[in-house]
Amino acid sequence: AAKRARLGTSVYEPGLDRHGAAQLTVISDLRRAIDQAELVLHYQPKADLRTGTVCGAEVLCRWQHPRLGLLGPDRFIPAAEETGLIEPLTQYVLDHALAQCHAWHLSGWEVPVSVNVGAQCLHDRTFPEQVAALLEHHGRPARVLTLEITESAIIADPHRASDVLTRLRDLGVRLSIDDFGTGYSSIAYLRTMPVHEMKIDRSFTTNMRTDSSSGAITRSLLGLAHNLELEVVAEGVEDEETWAVLAALGCDIVQGYCLSKPLPADEFAAWLRGPDAQ
Ligand code: C2E
Ligand code: CA
Ligand code: CA
Ligand code: CA
Repeated sequence: AAKRARLGTSVYEPGLDRHGAAQLTVISDLRRAIDQAELVLHYQPKADLRTGTVCGAEVLCRWQHPRLGLLGPDRFIPAAEETGLIEPLTQYVLDHALAQCHAWHLSGWEVPVSVNVGAQCLHDRTFPEQVAALLEHHGRPARVLTLEITESAIIADPHRASDVLTRLRDLGVRLSIDDFGTGYSSIAYLRTMPVHEMKIDRSFTTNMRTDSSSGAITRSLLGLAHNLELEVVAEGVEDEETWAVLAALGCDIVQGYCLSKPLPADEFAAWLRGPDAQ
């Protein structure tokens, strides 16, 4: 009963669902969403701070629900994780993101994509083969794909995560630690895990100009990551002052509303073309 209640609240806010029994239909609803392609992917650009050019996009999932409208990931990712649907959901996101990446490639744009991957996938020993099959299916080299993982996914089972991550790295996929600094302290794992990139959580970057401790943490994380030869992405960069401070600190990549909010694929392409193109 406790689990059902939790599932209910993570997908449907109280009062939104007048038909009742929402918690009982969430699993079949999400299943249908995956089968009938109701999940839509939005793309948020990332820019290289040295050159100022777009260097990739993070893929962020939304659910175009037939009754409730466009739902953000906070409304259904937790439920997907609890019901085992996160694995088919991740397959769906990888499949559609790599298809889009290939379509952009055919239009002359190389846009590497970063896909969020939850703990379950890192504990599935067949995940690297699934990723390899999807890359092959879409004719994309492994280097165009970055997988964003969270610290907690690693800590749940470090040994198995390390095995899966090593095989993904050997494929040539890039690995990024997401929301760094917000989970359990895993600085020790950072040293032993085969990752290429650290994403500094937006709770630090968004406030760094006004809050001195956020600024201090951002600077420390940058130093730590660079000493470990990791590339650093600052997420949640909302204004040009923060952008400039991060550039002065030697941060590698920025992402945030300052550049663009996440956009549907067609709007992302229009954004790439720029305001002057028709
Ligand atoms: P995240 O991976 O940390 O993604 C960054 C979130 O910050 C996104 O929220 C993005 O829209 C938001 N954001 C980006 N720039 C700014 C900014 O400048 N200011 C502010 N205030 N926010 C900004 P979103 O799209 O709602 O995604 C929330 C979370 O849902 C993601 O956090 C990620 O953990 C999860 N998620 C999204 N798509 C997927 C997916 O396909 N698979 C999995 N496993 N998780 C996903
Ligand atoms: Ca992410
Ligand atoms: Ca993040
Ligand atoms: Ca986050």
